[in-house]
Formats: sequence, structure tokens, C-alpha cells
Amino acid sequence: MPDKSTSSDTPAPAAVETQQAPTAARKIYPIVKYGDPVLEKPGAPVRIFDAELEQLTEDMFASMYAAQGVGLAAPQIGKSLRIAVVDVTAGKNPEAKIVLANPEIIHAEGEVREEEGCLSIPGFRGYVLRPQFVTIKAQNAKGEEFEIRGENLLARAFCHEIDHLNGILFLQHLSMLKRDLIRRKIKKLRKQGEW
Ligand SMILES: [Zn+2]
Repeated sequence: MPDKSTSSDTPAPAAVETQQAPTAARKIYPIVKYGDPVLEKPGAPVRIFDAELEQLTEDMFASMYAAQGVGLAAPQIGKSLRIAVVDVTAGKNPEAKIVLANPEIIHAEGEVREEEGCLSIPGFRGYVLRPQFVTIKAQNAKGEEFEIRGENLLARAFCHEIDHLNGILFLQHLSMLKRDLIRRKIKKLRKQGEW
């Protein structure tokens, strides 16, 4: 009975193939904390836009969602590269996922003073003055250039992530008094083995 044998043979490999595609597991990177020198040095420009880079950006989104952040820069996962991911909807809208490779601010307007935090400085927040609107020029994970305008939280996220790519943390935008207070508290936490 040739009909039966072929029909029972074919579904097996097909099923294996369809199972493999969606299970492409994402790597969740641990977030580098304040004190690691990688956070305070400028990242190298992204020059190679290949499948590995696309995978890295998807892993960065997964790591950012796992840490409940709205932005994550490569130095925060220990990679000194000028690439960041942003999603101010925290994964609710897939269209809000933005990859910023080699981003630059080309226009900024207005000022907003808002509280800001950072996944690399958990538990601490501070008021930072940022532009209300910014226009960014960047490349996506495929290397295609684009421009995007952000307002309020999105503008803040763009500025915060671009700062990371330049080795700058939000602490540097705080008053010296506030910054030293946070630094001292972190030092204490580190001594207690809690940082
Ligand atoms: Zn940050």
C-alpha cells in the first residue's frame, strides 16, 4: 500500500520544521550594573549589519522586556557597541520596537524636567532635564538609515540611550550633591555584597 506509507512518512519532517521556527529561543542577557567600566566608555560604531546583529537586537529586546525597561543599550549587556533598542510601550505594541544603530541627535527642541531611572542603576532615580522633542538619525538592524522624531518619554529614551553609547549615565546630569549621595549608597551596597 504505497499511498498509506508515503502519507504517514511525510508529516513527521514537516512537523519538526514548523516546530523549530517559533522556538528560536532568545538569550536574556544579565544587565551590567553601575561600577562596570564598560558603562563609562564610548561604544564602537556598528559596521557589520548581518544576521548576528539582528539576533543581538532581538535578544536585547527580550532582555529589556525581562528587566521591564523601555530602552537598553549594548554597553548595558557588556558590549561596547553603538547600538540600542527602545520600546516605550514595553512590548505592548510590536510596531513601537525601535533599533538605533549609530544614532545621532540632529535636532532638539524644548525642555522637560522629569524623573528618570536606568536598568544599570536599579533602585535610584533622579530628575533630568531633557529636550521635549528630538529628531534622531540612525540605522536599523539591516543598516538602513532612517530619521525618527520623538516626543516626551520617547525623546527622553532616545537621549538616555544615546548617552549610554557615549559612556554617559543619567547620574552625570544630576547635581553633584545628589550624584554623590547615590554613589555613596551604591558603594555601601557593594560592600554589603548587594550590588
Ligand atoms: Zn540607562
